Amino acid sequence: MIIGFIGLGIMGRPMAKNLIKAGYKLVVYDRFAKLDDVVALGAEAASSNKEAASKSGLLITMLPNSPHVKEAILGTEGVIEGIKPGSIVVDMSSIAPAVSQEVGTALKAKNIPFLDAPVSGGEPKAVDGTLAIMVGGDQASFEKIKPVLEKMGSSVVLCGDIGAGNITKLANQIVVALNIAAVSEAFVLSTKAGVDPEKVFHAIKGGLAGSTVMNAKIPMILAGDFKPGFRVELHIKDLQNALDTAHNLNVPAPLTAVMMETLQALKADGCEKDDHSAIVKFYEKLAGVVVRK
Ligand code: NAD
Repeated sequence: MIIGFIGLGIMGRPMAKNLIKAGYKLVVYDRFAKLDDVVALGAEAASSNKEAASKSGLLITMLPNSPHVKEAILGTEGVIEGIKPGSIVVDMSSIAPAVSQEVGTALKAKNIPFLDAPVSGGEPKAVDGTLAIMVGGDQASFEKIKPVLEKMGSSVVLCGDIGAGNITKLANQIVVALNIAAVSEAFVLSTKAGVDPEKVFHAIKGGLAGSTVMNAKIPMILAGDFKPGFRVELHIKDLQNALDTAHNLNVPAPLTAVMMETLQALKADGCEKDDHSAIVKFYEKLAGVVVRK
């Protein structure tokens, strides 16, 4: 099967490379990024979303947000104009669940199955092929694409109908942001009290407070390394989608709302391109201390 892959940024590029390594033939397209390294590995470069779709039996998108996905799939020269009967479209971007459903409905009118399959784990797990992949869509299409998803992730779970993948991802993003904030507040306190943050990390990471977030982000914070990874601006996008979705369902989300304002403060301070571990900078500024080695 030929796989079309659209959007080869921080995440999409290593994911596509893992598919090539697994022996799949890829047709790749990105509107802005250069694709020389992926072509050097054997992928064919397409000149539009439509062309990538027309050459593939499975078409994957990995784009920033809802408008990009709508444009790439439903827009002029988009996937919907090129995709052939019998093909499947899978969007792995983190977008608004309602937009996943809108795209799914448009493709269904052409008899093309659509699944939303956002990921968690960030760039390191995209490189390792160990992402957590949360999927929405029909069972039969899921079974067909699962072996491909398993080349990019170590956990692949069908969560429900179209949109359920992105609902699950929003839940994930709330937990991740608030976990980084809690870790930040705690380490700013212990640092200002004069306790070595490295010792605090080693003392608590194996207990109930330990988390995947703590293990991934504390080493970055201690090194003062805020290179993304996952940009603050992308987390703002995810929490906006979470707040919109929550309010549409009549669900108040008070912690998420506070977290959004924290991220907005970081953006106003010029940190929107930093990794989201930069959330610590907000707490450092409040307390007048930095958590570093
Ligand atoms: P990115 O900005 O690095 O990559 C997106 C790519 O899409 C870019 O190369 C861009 O040129 C391309 N693009 C944009 N519009 C396009 C269009 N209309 N047609 C074709 N290509 C287009 O973003 P990323 O960090 O790779 O994230 C992609 C998605 O994965 C986002 O939804 C993000 O929230 C999610 N995600 C990211 C991470 C992470 O750690 N970076 C982790 C989990 C999930």
